[in-house]
Amino acid sequence: MASMIRFRRSTAVAWIVWLAAAAPLGAQDNPAPDEALPLKSIETVPAARPDPDSVAPGPVVELAVLVPPTPAEKPPVPEGYVAPPPDLSQPARFLFGAKPEPAPLPARSLGAYSRGCLAGGVALPVDGPSWQVMRLSRNRNWGHPALVDYLERLAADAPGLGWPGLLVGDLAQPRGGPMLTGHASHQIGLDGDIWLTPMPERTLSADERETMSAVSMLKDAGMTVDPEIWTDAHARLIRRAASDPELERIFVHPAIKRALCTFAGDDPDAADWLRHVRPWYGHHYHFHVRLKCPGDQRGCRNQSPPPAGSGCGAELAWWFTEEPYTPKPGAKPVKRRETMVSDLPAACRRVLLAD
Ligand SMILES: [Zn+2]
Repeated sequence: MASMIRFRRSTAVAWIVWLAAAAPLGAQDNPAPDEALPLKSIETVPAARPDPDSVAPGPVVELAVLVPPTPAEKPPVPEGYVAPPPDLSQPARFLFGAKPEPAPLPARSLGAYSRGCLAGGVALPVDGPSWQVMRLSRNRNWGHPALVDYLERLAADAPGLGWPGLLVGDLAQPRGGPMLTGHASHQIGLDGDIWLTPMPERTLSADERETMSAVSMLKDAGMTVDPEIWTDAHARLIRRAASDPELERIFVHPAIKRALCTFAGDDPDAADWLRHVRPWYGHHYHFHVRLKCPGDQRGCRNQSPPPAGSGCGAELAWWFTEEPYTPKPGAKPVKRRETMVSDLPAACRRVLLAD
C-alpha cells in the first residue's frame, strides 16, 4: 500500500489565496492538465454551440475594483472570540476558495455543475491501490461521496484494462463552489479530471505531483491524436469510465472523440457509451468526468442527457471545421462575470457558514 502524504491544508490554502492576490486577476495557475489553457478551453473560449453547462448570466462586477483578501499572520485567538461572518460582498470564489475543510452537513450537491456548492464533501485519499492525486497544494480532491466511489471503482478496474492506475487532477474544493483559478464547473462535487498520462509504478513525491506535467495526446498540437502516444488502453479506460451507470458526460478533445469512434469500429452497442463522451475545447491532457445527480437529491440540477447516437457523424465533423474556433462576426467580447454567493442556491450560504 502506498504511503499517505501529509500536508497542512490550511497552509496550502493560505498560499493559494496569497498567490491569487499576487497574480494579475484572471491569471491561471499551472495550466497543465486542467481547463485553464489559454486557447480552445472550456473556461476561456465562448462556444459557438454552448454546452448546457455554460455559466448563466449573473451580475457583472468590474474586475479592476476587486481586491482579494491579503493573508496575514494569525494572532492567537482569545477565549470566547467569535469570528465575524465572511464578507459576502466578495466574489464567491474568494470565500469558497478560502475554506480548507468541508461543511459538516449531510452530503448534498447543491445547484448546477457551474453554479453551486457541496455540503458534506469527502476527500479522495491522495493515494490508493491504483490511483494518485496530483497538485496536492490545491486542496481540490474533494467531492460528493458518489464521485469518490466512482473514482475508486474506475481505479480498481484500470489495471485489468492495461492502464496502470489513475493520476487524478482537480475534483472540487472542500465546499465546492467557484474556484480561485480555472474551471467554470467542478462546483458541486460531481466533476473530476483524470490525466491521460498513465500512473507511474512508484509513489510520486508531493513535489513531483506539483511539477510533473501531463502529456498532450495531440500530434503537433493539431487535430489528430499522436499514434506514438495514444493507445488502445486510453480508449479502454475512457470506455469503462463512460459505461458506468452514474456517469453523465465525459469531455474530451474532438481528436480524442474521433480516435474513440475509430476504436469502437462497427460495434453496434458502442453508442451506449460513446454518446456520453462529448467533444469539447481543450481536454487533450486529461478527460473530465461528470456524474449525474446522485439518487433523488433535491436541489441538485441535472444536465439534459446527451443526444441519442454515438455522436461520431455530423456532430463530430463540425468540430473539424473552422466554425467552433472563429468568433461570430460582430459578436461582442464576453464580459467576465463574477459569481457572488447570492447567485448560488440559497443553501450555499449555509454551506459556506457551517462550522
Ligand atoms: Zn474538468
